Amino acid sequence: MSVSELPIARSDSFDRGRSQGYDLLRLRPVAALMHWVGFPYFFQAILLVFFVGLAVLASGLYPPEDVPGRLYAKTNLVTLLVWGLWWPAMVWAAVLLGRAWCAICPLELLANATERLGRRLGVRRRVLGKWLRSGALIVGLYALIQMSVQGVDLHRHPAYTSLFLWGLLAMAAFAGFFFKDRAFCRGFCPVGLLLGTYGRGGMLAMRPVAAEPCVACPDRECVRGGNRTRLDARSCPSLLNPARLNGNSDCLVCGQCVKACPPGNMGLFLRPLFPRGDARESMASWPVTLFVMLVSGFVVIQMFSEWSAAQEVFLWVPKQVASGLGLTSYAGWIQGIWALIVAPAVLWSLLGGLVVLTRGASHLVEAWRRMAIPLAVLIAFAHMAKGLAKFVTWAGFLPIAVGDPSGVESGRMLAAKTLAPPPDLLPITTVSVISMVLVLAGTYFTLREFRLAQGAAHRSYQWPTLILASGLLFLVFGWGFLQ
Ligand code: SF4
Ligand code: SF4
Ligand code: SF4
Repeated sequence: MSVSELPIARSDSFDRGRSQGYDLLRLRPVAALMHWVGFPYFFQAILLVFFVGLAVLASGLYPPEDVPGRLYAKTNLVTLLVWGLWWPAMVWAAVLLGRAWCAICPLELLANATERLGRRLGVRRRVLGKWLRSGALIVGLYALIQMSVQGVDLHRHPAYTSLFLWGLLAMAAFAGFFFKDRAFCRGFCPVGLLLGTYGRGGMLAMRPVAAEPCVACPDRECVRGGNRTRLDARSCPSLLNPARLNGNSDCLVCGQCVKACPPGNMGLFLRPLFPRGDARESMASWPVTLFVMLVSGFVVIQMFSEWSAAQEVFLWVPKQVASGLGLTSYAGWIQGIWALIVAPAVLWSLLGGLVVLTRGASHLVEAWRRMAIPLAVLIAFAHMAKGLAKFVTWAGFLPIAVGDPSGVESGRMLAAKTLAPPPDLLPITTVSVISMVLVLAGTYFTLREFRLAQGAAHRSYQWPTLILASGLLFLVFGWGFLQ
């Protein structure tokens, strides 16, 4: 199909879609890209080669004894790219653009390929069970990754990072081979819940342009089972109903529904953050609630790590426990339990208790489930602040790491001070100010989300939001002005 033949000349229906934002498919280059048979496979394939290359490059590499692990993580190309640059960028991309990363994710390509291979070989593939669909396994895997960061410094050891990357590749291949319908993304991918939760209000959204063409649609190609196994113009591989799409959390922006829809009624909208028109759940599922509690602990400990005096205070209890029990060699694991389980449980009990006291929920568990999705917005903005702080201190190491990918020699020279460390991209005071703006923006959107999701009861959630926001604001202020 030539660009001029693309089904995008729809000025009448666009008028009706305008309330959803600007349909990027009105731009011919974007429409041509989304309709291209190689989209998104071409980009996924390039990234898959890159992904495997990183896993190979990092294999068997440990920090040298004479280089601190914290420094070595910045000089090794793989740990720098994965943890210092890609991870913060993904958090920013998720909040601002929804699940845009998923559109070009290499793991989805691998799972797609093994799903096709399994079908070819006649393997009896399973449908994802309710438990896996709920995201329960994803919460467990995410917790394992974060515990490994605290316990064995996963992010500072290229060898562990390599195992992590190989593990993801193996899991994607396995899930694709033995399960149907994009199972890896829906039930296994350790970052799936993070992207789905942070990306709910993103500015990029796939939506039907107008309701009428879908009502009158004779064949409903976007959901037809017979189209699912095609290579291109598939019915939604994630088993969503594109004609009724009103949320971002499960849509991977893969564009298959755009190609499958004969009247060209699917649009890729650029819109404001957290638009009112999106569907909102007043109570999160259990896995999502647990995930948000867990990630709140991870973000808080990460934010403390930017301010050494505050970190000392935060980690006083687990350090005392580790030395009191004679378990100092397991101090990292104990810190992980403190940061990811104990501290969030205490924090959420206090905040949830306030909600119950002000009759916003009848018991603590209900309060947690009502708080989870709106508070995830504030946590996501705080995560962006931490991501920025990390990015500006790590990015300057990129030329050094490209010149010496193993990072061993450059790490030794930096440790011996025969090589000057690169300057931060921004002064910490600037990062601190930007971070305060981010936390304030997150607070505004969180209060708004509570109003839209909880209706008249939203006032009960104001104090918990303001208390958490004040704590985060104090932390990011401290980064720049109290140390
Ligand atoms: S859910 Fe995970 S595997 Fe699937 S596309 Fe997104 S990041 Fe990739
Ligand atoms: S999105 Fe397209 S294919 Fe799907 S129901 Fe609507 S008009 Fe039909
Ligand atoms: S609705 Fe389905 S097919 Fe369409 S972009 Fe989202 S995940 Fe892909």
